[in-house]
Amino acid sequence: MSDVLVSGADLLGRGRADLLLRDGRFADPATAAADVERVDADGLVALPGLVDLHTHLREPGREDAETHATGTAAAARGGFTAVLAMANTLPVTDTAEAAEHVAALGERAGHTQVVPVGAVSKGLDGAELAELGLMARSSAAVRVFSDDGHCVADARLMRRALEYVRAFDGVIAQHAQDPRLAGPDACCHEGELSGRLGLPGWPAVAESSVVARDVQLAELTRSRLHVCHVSTAETVDVLRWAKLRGIDVTAEVAPHHLLLTTADVAGYDPTFKVNPPLRPDEHLGALRDALADGTIDTVATDHAPHARHDKEHAFAEAASGMLGLETALGVVVETMLLPGRLNWGEVAERMSVVPARIARLRGQGRPLAVGEPANLTLVDPAARAVVDRAASASLSQNNPWHGRYLPDPVVATFWAGRPTYRRG
Ligand SMILES: [Zn+2]
Repeated sequence: MSDVLVSGADLLGRGRADLLLRDGRFADPATAAADVERVDADGLVALPGLVDLHTHLREPGREDAETHATGTAAAARGGFTAVLAMANTLPVTDTAEAAEHVAALGERAGHTQVVPVGAVSKGLDGAELAELGLMARSSAAVRVFSDDGHCVADARLMRRALEYVRAFDGVIAQHAQDPRLAGPDACCHEGELSGRLGLPGWPAVAESSVVARDVQLAELTRSRLHVCHVSTAETVDVLRWAKLRGIDVTAEVAPHHLLLTTADVAGYDPTFKVNPPLRPDEHLGALRDALADGTIDTVATDHAPHARHDKEHAFAEAASGMLGLETALGVVVETMLLPGRLNWGEVAERMSVVPARIARLRGQGRPLAVGEPANLTLVDPAARAVVDRAASASLSQNNPWHGRYLPDPVVATFWAGRPTYRRG
């Protein structure tokens, strides 16, 4: 692998410097050879490679929707150098063998690091604990466990899972959805609009009530809890209370919950069907405030590709989920950076440093400094473009940003010193 000299980049918006990428790490730029490959980064901001805690890669089992090759290519375009692959594949990632298989698929695809998330319960059925210890001790070294797509609704199972993962510094990532308050048909924020559209309501309390229970279980077990895709103001209130008490809880928000609202659902376009659902404006404001003040720790995409034949149905019958990897940073720039609510250093914290820490990834989210792994994202703060779903690297087209004029910041991504995406 040849050296690359990135010249004149603004490191996290704090000042310009050169970066030399050599043998997968940053090296002293003064040692660059005269004929080194140069990347002119004048006007660009350098960030540590982004880390996504919440990606659905669909492989194994649903290669008609996404594969490791297409999903991680989309991730690299979005500036990511690592993704956590959710466990709801076919088969479910609920054994050491399945976790090692996912890690091997990721290694073969080669566009980002792929880290498997292990299921909490066998087959995601919410009844019996999966092989958490064996997955943790496998070569995949699983640390994040989630039944995402399903809630671990049984309080006793949740307690046992939290107790169990303490032994190896694991974390339980909860998809908070009380199944009695928001059942499998629930698909629209419960309120005036769900009534008018005649869609089954998904009340905000179905999320916050589970989070209130889980933070208390995390306190009782002195274990680590992570809350997936926070979507309501009430959940933010619970998180604020839990953090004040010193409970070990972290939380993520998905880009779509920062910018899209229930109003986008009014046309019954199933592209906007997602779980948890899009919420009214007042929730978006609370989520942005919480991401700005750190109550919500990180942004995670919940990238959820779906094949056409699963998505193109009447709204109530269509699959839930939307693409997110390629547009995540652009949405964060639009909603948080441009309005002055986060600076570039804080964006790097929320999209690289913190998610790497939550997942215990040692080689990600590191400083842009000599000796550190050369995971790097170069961004153009001023670039904007109209999103075109046909131009996506993803295999699927359920892109809720199609036709929108959004920041389009990612110019290049380097993973372990190797270019995995370059614009144009
Ligand atoms: Zn989920």
